Amino acid sequence: MAKWPLALILCALIFLLESSPVGAQILGGSDTTEIAENLYSYRHGGGRSLWVEMDNSVIVFDPMNTTAAAVLNDPIKAATDKPVSHVIYSHEHYDHIRGAKIFADAGATIVSHENCLDTFDYIPDPEAIRPDVTFSDNYDIPVAGTKIELLYFGRNHGDCMTVAHFPEHRLVLIIDLIAEKSLPFGSLPDYYPGDTLRSLKEIAQLDFDRIALGHRSAVIDRAALDDTIGYWSDLMAAVKAELEKGTGAFEVMETVELPQYRDWRNHDRWFKRHVERVVWH
Ligand SMILES: [Zn+2]
Repeated sequence: MAKWPLALILCALIFLLESSPVGAQILGGSDTTEIAENLYSYRHGGGRSLWVEMDNSVIVFDPMNTTAAAVLNDPIKAATDKPVSHVIYSHEHYDHIRGAKIFADAGATIVSHENCLDTFDYIPDPEAIRPDVTFSDNYDIPVAGTKIELLYFGRNHGDCMTVAHFPEHRLVLIIDLIAEKSLPFGSLPDYYPGDTLRSLKEIAQLDFDRIALGHRSAVIDRAALDDTIGYWSDLMAAVKAELEKGTGAFEVMETVELPQYRDWRNHDRWFKRHVERVVWH
């Protein structure tokens, strides 16, 4: 139960950032980038959707919000007459999955992992519509075209994170779990540290070269995954070692340093908060 307020706080923080005048100034506008054949990353403000042109339809990942989804319709319609047949939710955080109604009203099927469902009950939001189809393990979208595997690795960031693997493009779509040379968000709200590290190591077993993201860069090299695994491993090992020396929990927060990550984005803002989150974990 404790996770829902955290998820709500995360969504509110990101919503405020993206809807504030400062946020708009920094993150304004929208654009579309073709990142592989028939695969497009669509940026709106500080968030990103991905859409895929299949043989007879279009698949959209993470419509973000009603405004972003309405604008997203333009590049899709400019590229193809095919209808949007499916909208896939990456996970339960509303900064990514609001706005699907415009596609559902036009006939699209909304898909997510089944563990996302509780969020719609606990945090009703008129912009966030429930999925029509859920899955419990992995899922193959029943549409001809680019091969897409929807993969579930257990809880990590939230409890219903779906990673999309595009084996023909040697590419994965990973939302929120990965950023390039950047500490994960804030005080790690709604992250399960041990499961996050386990999931990242399992994702690393997939065959791919590049990672499409839900914030900032459209696509980055897979080395970012190894870097992120390194960060979580080093963070958890350093905290554990300090606790095992008998250092008190509050003292650990002042003691643990990882100078190799000092040049990562948001290190100075968030590193101490990460230590605290892992101490309590
Ligand atoms: Zn998230």
